[in-house]
Amino acid sequence: MSNVAVCVRIRPLSEKEAQYGSMVPCIRRSDQESFTFKDDKEEESVFTFDRVFYEDSIQADVFEFVAKPIVKDAMNAINGTILAYGQTGAGKTHTMEGPNMQNLDDSSSKGILPRVAQCIFEFIQAADETSEFLIKLSMVEIYMEKIRDLLDATKNNLQVKENRAKGIFIAGVTEVGLANRAVGATQMNAESSRSHCVFLFTIQQTNSEDRSMKTGKVYLVDLAGSEKVERTGAEGKLLSEAKMINKSLSALGNVINALTSETGSHVPYRDSKLTRILQESLGGNSRTTLLCCCSPSSLHVSETLSTLRFGSRAKQI
Ligand code: ADP
Ligand code: MG
Repeated sequence: MSNVAVCVRIRPLSEKEAQYGSMVPCIRRSDQESFTFKDDKEEESVFTFDRVFYEDSIQADVFEFVAKPIVKDAMNAINGTILAYGQTGAGKTHTMEGPNMQNLDDSSSKGILPRVAQCIFEFIQAADETSEFLIKLSMVEIYMEKIRDLLDATKNNLQVKENRAKGIFIAGVTEVGLANRAVGATQMNAESSRSHCVFLFTIQQTNSEDRSMKTGKVYLVDLAGSEKVERTGAEGKLLSEAKMINKSLSALGNVINALTSETGSHVPYRDSKLTRILQESLGGNSRTTLLCCCSPSSLHVSETLSTLRFGSRAKQI
């Protein structure tokens, strides 16, 4: 039985949305797990998730609930993955990284990524003296099913490989040691909303007495925008990008669905680069949290509904 949680985060109304006068909220709060959603035909449905973070939620709370348990497990060699899903502008990058990746050391607005780095170092400080740690960070972008190294622009078509010693890994990806708590700015390209951005923390622990080793991985994934581009009559490059994104997002949905279903169905990891990379951190002895990011505005009601449906379908709670 896999360990998959589905959470929702609703960001505050933006200035533009407020100006538009979309004060009719499409989400009515019930409690920490449930809300009523009203669509554009005034039809209401109740959604329930493992946890809902409303407009007033703060970054620290999201981290504590969503990421801290995953980091804690990774210290014990249990892999974990956090995926931010939602349309462009829904708050994925804000939640995963923060509003600005520079000088975030003392900022309350920093997102999950810098908090994970900080948390790993806190756990290390509290760990047994016989434990030696090696912490590594890699960052890649998956665009049109091609894996590009965000730490080395010359590596723009990395391959996923598998062997007995390393399991599944991205061959040749740049790994940097995390020498301090600060995680620098990411170098995503201008099309970042059309690509999946994958951050990987590898926590390697060696017992200095018996030299036994264990490794835990934490994947943080800022997914490509889930909006349905075809609806807007896109052509050419934009349309092929959109098709590729839809394909990989549905592959992800299918994998999570297969993991949470009780029938023990086949898990289609090989249907996309993303699910292939994440294979060992989604299935088996691991923890996964899908975080569905939504706008509260009635302007985005159909995309929000499709995000909520993706979350509900991923896991029948
Ligand atoms: P996405 O990555 O899903 O495209 P962003 O994270 O870039 O969306 O968010 C879009 C805008 O909304 C940004 O200006 C961001 O700062 C703001 N925003 C998102 N979530 C929040 C939040 N929880 N609190 C305040 N501002 C937010
Ligand atoms: Mg973004």
